[in-house]
Amino acid sequence: MKTYFNAEDFRITAHNAVDQLANLISNPSDKVIPYQKPEDALAFWKDFQPNSIEDLFQTVIDKSTKLHHPQYMGHQVVPPVPLSTLAGFVSEFLNNGMAVYEMGMAFNPMERLVCEWMNQKIGYDTKSNGIITSGGTLGNLTALLTARAKLTEVWSEGHSDKLAIMVSEEAHYCVDRAARIMGLGNEGVIKIPVNDKYKMRTDLLESELDKAREKGLKVFAIIGSAGSTSTGAYEDLESMATFAAKHNVWFHVDAAHGGAGLFSEKYKHLLNGIHLADSVVIDFHKMMMVPALATAVLYKNGQDSYNTFHQKAQYLWASEEEDWYNSGKRTFECTKLGMCFKVYAIWKIYGENIFTQNVEKLHENAEVFASLVEEHPHFELAIKPESNIVNFRYIHSDKNLNELNSGLRQKLIENGNFYIVQTVLKGKVFLRVSLMNPLTNEEHLYKLLEELSEIAAQL
Ligand SMILES: *Cc1c(COP(=O)(O)O)cnc(C)c1O
Repeated sequence: MKTYFNAEDFRITAHNAVDQLANLISNPSDKVIPYQKPEDALAFWKDFQPNSIEDLFQTVIDKSTKLHHPQYMGHQVVPPVPLSTLAGFVSEFLNNGMAVYEMGMAFNPMERLVCEWMNQKIGYDTKSNGIITSGGTLGNLTALLTARAKLTEVWSEGHSDKLAIMVSEEAHYCVDRAARIMGLGNEGVIKIPVNDKYKMRTDLLESELDKAREKGLKVFAIIGSAGSTSTGAYEDLESMATFAAKHNVWFHVDAAHGGAGLFSEKYKHLLNGIHLADSVVIDFHKMMMVPALATAVLYKNGQDSYNTFHQKAQYLWASEEEDWYNSGKRTFECTKLGMCFKVYAIWKIYGENIFTQNVEKLHENAEVFASLVEEHPHFELAIKPESNIVNFRYIHSDKNLNELNSGLRQKLIENGNFYIVQTVLKGKVFLRVSLMNPLTNEEHLYKLLEELSEIAAQL
């Protein structure tokens, strides 16, 4: 065993690995995505026998999508800032499981401080608190469980009421999934239609609530998206808050993507009303430069967070008190990495201005790209972007535009110079960019339209 824990070997392999990764920044490879068909990739890894650790790591790097490349414009995950990746590495090496205080004497206080800082940004008062969990999906489920626990003694009694939530039809699919995990079924997820800006039509809330009540449903939560996943649209949180307060339902804001806007004086108005939410989810791995995963679930009334899991695990926690430093009482995870350290490191070393700069650059890039699309004779926008997500498509009068745009994207990623995704809005296929890399500039954006036009000319 001793050979596997050799300190000198570790020093050397770790230094080499860092050099290999640093090359991705100093000398970005020509391809963003080395696209390979799934079966070919499977066959490759099955037969692969690395001849050194270096070879193993380099092969993984070569065969992966390069988020640090400025022409990476695909999914909503960031090219992590290197400092944060290092903090994650340190946390993984220490492996403090953090559910109980002694296994997270650095990370439990740190998690509390990160949540308090985010709560100040939201505008919550000192009654608030929060937890950090593994991703927005789990974060949204956690918040909805808290909402339900407020209403019923569900841990002990189960639930007999027909419960329901209200959410925009454009919400992230994980909200629907959370509701179904909670046993709400088809009827229990009331999808409110969106307007022409792809935002929930809050004018329909009262009538939808009446309809739900007629069916015997008890609506216990309403969820707002800030911003929504396909279009990045920020919904009208103030109207939702008014509705929630009037009918005494829990108001949750899914700000997994857009929560970082709170750091910008220029863009934080998009989140107006967020301080009225009972709970908020913010992903640090979306616009806050942190490697996946790290998500804050923040509560206006901190007491609520202790109700989510009314479960006794006496062998773990001797005291029955609501102690913040045994964080496992309030999270799904038992063993949990010190994810908060990845955020704390950036905050302490660089200061929060880095988040302001990042979120503003990403939003501005979307504005620049939207103008390029509008000026171009062969492209059109789905809608003017509100965040760093832009949906657009190639237009050509004689062709089926859905097939044309899907084909364009497939060819683009096979070429490998750019990575973008696609989405369907009201039955139409759109190309979709999430501008996640702050090193992307106007020239890269222009080149994307050029390459798409060239491919279209050949299709
Ligand atoms: C990304 C996203 C999620 C899911 O979060 P994960 O961290 O990927 O689990 C949920 N809601 C919105 C609005 C998102 O953008």
